[in-house]
Amino acid sequence: MKIAIIGGGAAGFFAAITVKSLHPETDVYILEKANKVLAKVGVSGGGRCNLTNSFEGVTDLKQVYPRGHKLMKRLFKSFNERNSYEWFEAHGVRLVIQDDHCVFPQSQDSQSIIDCLVNEAHRLGVRILPRHEVKGIIQQPHDQWLLTLTDKQMAFDRIAITTGGAPRGKGLEYLSALGHQIESPVPSLFTFNINDKSLRQLMGTVVTNTIVQMPGTKFRSSGSLLITHWGMSGPAILKLSSHAARHLAEHQYQVPIAVNWTGCTNNSDVQTLLTELACQHAQKQLSTITPFQLPSRLWQFIIERAGLSVEKKWGEMGKKGLNKLVETLVNDHYDINGKGAFKEEFVTCGGIALSNVNLNTLESKICPHLFFAGEVLDIDAVTGGFNLQAAWTTGYTVGRSIGE
Ligand SMILES: Cc1cc2nc3c(=O)[nH]c(=O)nc-3n(C[C@H](O)[C@H](O)[C@H](O)COP(=O)(O)OP(=O)(O)OC[C@H]3O[C@@H](n4cnc5c(N)ncnc54)[C@H](O)[C@@H]3O)c2cc1C
Repeated sequence: MKIAIIGGGAAGFFAAITVKSLHPETDVYILEKANKVLAKVGVSGGGRCNLTNSFEGVTDLKQVYPRGHKLMKRLFKSFNERNSYEWFEAHGVRLVIQDDHCVFPQSQDSQSIIDCLVNEAHRLGVRILPRHEVKGIIQQPHDQWLLTLTDKQMAFDRIAITTGGAPRGKGLEYLSALGHQIESPVPSLFTFNINDKSLRQLMGTVVTNTIVQMPGTKFRSSGSLLITHWGMSGPAILKLSSHAARHLAEHQYQVPIAVNWTGCTNNSDVQTLLTELACQHAQKQLSTITPFQLPSRLWQFIIERAGLSVEKKWGEMGKKGLNKLVETLVNDHYDINGKGAFKEEFVTCGGIALSNVNLNTLESKICPHLFFAGEVLDIDAVTGGFNLQAAWTTGYTVGRSIGE
């Protein structure tokens, strides 16, 4: 049996290695359009490759996979983060789990992951063909496939599409022409542009415990937030951009955001704490006592944003002043007016509709003997190693089913 894996990324290599190790008699080809395979793994995690996550504290996969969580739950029964961890260690890559649950190679160098995958593919006899861009696929009689490349055609019995994300939809046309439904691709994992001069003065400020949400929607996230010269970044913002990726695209990245700078989910706790501080420090100026371990620059900014003077005494604030301060601390509104870039990690929301694939094998329901793995599917995650884990899991699933 002759099998083509189209795309030499994480999902493609994992699919090729899996099928070749389970079915050594198959002829497995990786067709990669670029000069180099696994380029994205190389730049992943800032060149260190955050290849998976311990999933500690993840109680529902929806928290980390805004798209595809149900499918991931099903596929994790066969290959999950522990299997990835063990697989790489068994293949000679020592791994470390950071305090934030992200898993990296001990070498802190993504080249260890690339070398491991390439060496294993070579050892098993997978044929790796860089500079082989697949331009079209034609279904032949008897469920054979003819692939059109720049200067030739190649015939295969089975093919797997592992061509990765396509935020502008480019490269998915031929799959849609074959009858597949494409969930319209939009970017995910980005920072927010906020055109607010006063906020810009706080550039570089990190607030460790925030809750951010989009008023009028269910989209919210928590974590640390970084104020940048263009707006807001940091884990809480990236997570929100992922959960709300489609909503943001539909609104041309022009929506309001509400920030709770305290991280407290109960507003009356904030009110109680400020009331206590007002009693204890009645004669002190507002700026001298900083609640919630906020950076003092931010606290002064919040006092002024609430319409109070930083020199005002805690005891002179009055009920109205206290209420305004609480409101600004827990529900501070800004207008997002554009999408920034996030250079560390960036993925596509959308791709091949999951309703078009067999959920156990990832074979197309439209075209037999055609499989999908990796980011080309409508699966994507927040940052933290979850996207590469999706590539290993879906790659493994395809590798296991495509040779049968
Ligand atoms: C800068 C950056 C950093 C990241 N860091 C992390 C991280 O630390 N942890 C994490 O979990 N995720 C990270 N991600 C996301 C993660 O890298 C991807 O989700 C994952 O690599 C997707 O794997 P894939 O195999 O599906 O696609 P890709 O890795 O994109 O591979 C697809 C391959 O297919 C090839 N191809 C496309 N079209 C054709 C064609 N027609 N013919 C032949 N070949 C074709 C492409 O050239 C490419 O090599 C990062 C992403 C970016 C951009």
